[in-house]
Amino acid sequence: MWRQKKFDLIVVGGGPAGTTAARYAAKAGISVLVLEKDRDIGVPVRCGEAVSDEGLRLFVKPDPRWINSVITKLRLISPNDHKIDLNLKQKGYILDRRIFDYDLAQYASASGAQIVCKAYVNGLLFDDSKVVGVTGEYQGEPFEVKSKLVIGADGVESRIGRWAGLDTVVKMKDMESAAQKTISGIEIDEHRFDFYMSHERAPGGYLWIFPKGSNAANVGLGVSGKYSRFRSAQSYLDDFLQKTFPNGSVVSSTVGGVPCDKTLKKFVSDGLMLAGDAAHMVNPMTGGGIIPGMRGGMLAGETAVEAIKAEDTSEKFLNRYSKEWNKVGGKNHERFYSIKETVSKLTDEELNSISDAVEKIPPDDRTIGKVFRKAIFKKPSLLVDVMKVFAGV
Ligand SMILES: Cc1cc2nc3c(=O)[nH]c(=O)nc-3n(C[C@H](O)[C@H](O)[C@H](O)COP(=O)(O)OP(=O)(O)OC[C@H]3O[C@@H](n4cnc5c(N)ncnc54)[C@H](O)[C@@H]3O)c2cc1C
Repeated sequence: MWRQKKFDLIVVGGGPAGTTAARYAAKAGISVLVLEKDRDIGVPVRCGEAVSDEGLRLFVKPDPRWINSVITKLRLISPNDHKIDLNLKQKGYILDRRIFDYDLAQYASASGAQIVCKAYVNGLLFDDSKVVGVTGEYQGEPFEVKSKLVIGADGVESRIGRWAGLDTVVKMKDMESAAQKTISGIEIDEHRFDFYMSHERAPGGYLWIFPKGSNAANVGLGVSGKYSRFRSAQSYLDDFLQKTFPNGSVVSSTVGGVPCDKTLKKFVSDGLMLAGDAAHMVNPMTGGGIIPGMRGGMLAGETAVEAIKAEDTSEKFLNRYSKEWNKVGGKNHERFYSIKETVSKLTDEELNSISDAVEKIPPDDRTIGKVFRKAIFKKPSLLVDVMKVFAGV
């Protein structure tokens, strides 16, 4: 058991949001404790592991040890199986999150944060209505640790926010139910992301094939909560795998929720900030939450340092974190949310007709912008929605 009973900052959750928050706070000299319920940081992996090079470089220098595949191409597959190939202007990666998350934790501890695994947080400590620490269980023993501030980075199933009285409810249609299997023994283009857009295959979401080298891939899909109560994401995925990779070996499986929602209206209270999935910072259009989580973690960690130096951990002071998030990420999230809403209303027939139009663009001339223009040409009402989004109406 760790000896210290009081820290400046406690971070609950050792995912990318939590360890990034801890790294930025600890390197500025405040005392930081990270509590993670699982035995190992980075395990189990509940993720397609896709990130952009540009996003990653905002926080860390990509390390070849984390990278399973470097992605330079994108393939969009329509409901009637037409394939649209595009070259990406900026490369992406499929990570090995077991190594990536572990290294993020190492960076945090090298900056001075103390990380404890197998430490399950089961409650918050309050002084009046202000959060002043946590309670939990470590190796069967109850514990209590005090702090000036708590960051809840406890992922999609976050309870920290609820315990502090924040409204963390996600509308059913915005909670994507995701299922993924890592398939090996298959042949795959290791530099290409494949996305299947189709209501029949993944209603209200999409299906992905993310290569992990040339003989394995994360194959998964997300289904909007509006549909997953009638048929599970797992069942849609099994159908696809049976048809597409009947001889592949399933070496790993996972299921999980992805909050494809706007960021919470309120994600701070006296003595508390939420970051990452816990604050619904996932990009609602793509379901990507690693980079937004790290961004939220960095901003929360930096705000924690300012609050502790100013000896003011009130909600009013911590609101500068909400403002900063809205300035750098939040506004884009609102736009992505509206685009997701619009795209999810396209029927399979409309998607087929857009893909027919895009196929006429010479392959070397195709860009995401041109695909989008064709989509607008085929379904002009999209333009109205997108204009509304960018005009903020
Ligand atoms: C199937 C699937 C595929 C995905 N694919 C992608 C992708 O390709 N790219 C991408 O960018 N994103 C993807 N995501 C989303 C991404 O995984 C998350 O957005 C990201 O992990 C969020 O980071 P986080 O630190 O907020 O939360 P998490 O990574 O979930 O970390 C939260 C941590 O808190 C710990 N914890 C929870 N409760 C407690 C407690 N009470 N006490 C102590 N510890 C606790 C958990 O054990 C966990 O380690 C995917 C998600 C799913 C489900």
